[in-house]
Amino acid sequence: MSTQYKGEGLLLVIAASSGTGKSTVCQELLTQSSRCQLSVSYTTRPPRNNEKDGEHYHFVSKETFEGMIERQEFLEWAKVHDNYYGTSRLATEQAMAQGRDILLDIDVQGARQIRELHGKNSILIFLLPPSWDVMVQRLRGRGTESEERIQRRLKTAREEIPTATDFDYIVENDDLTETVKTIQAICRSERHSASRMGSQLQSFLTQIPPLS
Ligand code: 5GP
Repeated sequence: MSTQYKGEGLLLVIAASSGTGKSTVCQELLTQSSRCQLSVSYTTRPPRNNEKDGEHYHFVSKETFEGMIERQEFLEWAKVHDNYYGTSRLATEQAMAQGRDILLDIDVQGARQIRELHGKNSILIFLLPPSWDVMVQRLRGRGTESEERIQRRLKTAREEIPTATDFDYIVENDDLTETVKTIQAICRSERHSASRMGSQLQSFLTQIPPLS
């Protein structure tokens, strides 16, 4: 990652339909970049076997979550497959102010909210599976889902994938190494967009002596 950029961190949103390999891509991005930090979401869904509270999610009750919605403590939130999921506003803003990039592994509804409310600060990437068949195979290959849940996820995918054109970038996740490299390249060039380099430009301009 570039060492020249000194401004606020980026809000990097990665969305994809189930079976695209999004979690693996996010894990790899985090492993490879020390300035990148995963936003730990709040959810009302129960933890799966290997999941730890505070690490994979903050697991909370429906009442707690609804209280947080009322107090506007979420940067975005959505109901996904009957459960609430949301991103903490405070944790995200604090980390970005420290110059850290925040990775949001969220669904398409959440990505849309980020676009509307924080468009200037965010980069939205839609991960596309290499093909529909590969996506279905990956979903079935997990072996953790009932046929009914698989069908529900496929229905959601049919609705989500056409919305990829609303994102800033579409990256096909065929080869993990290539996918991660492409996302890193996107972040590097976004950091150097004229709007993000504004304060650095200003500080340079103050060094120019007046004409005598
Ligand atoms: P899972 O229950 O499989 O962990 O996640 C289901 C879906 O919810 C995934 O697409 C995941 O990216 C999404 N998700 C996780 N956290 C959040 C969040 O904070 N906000 C939104 N909008 N979606 C989330």
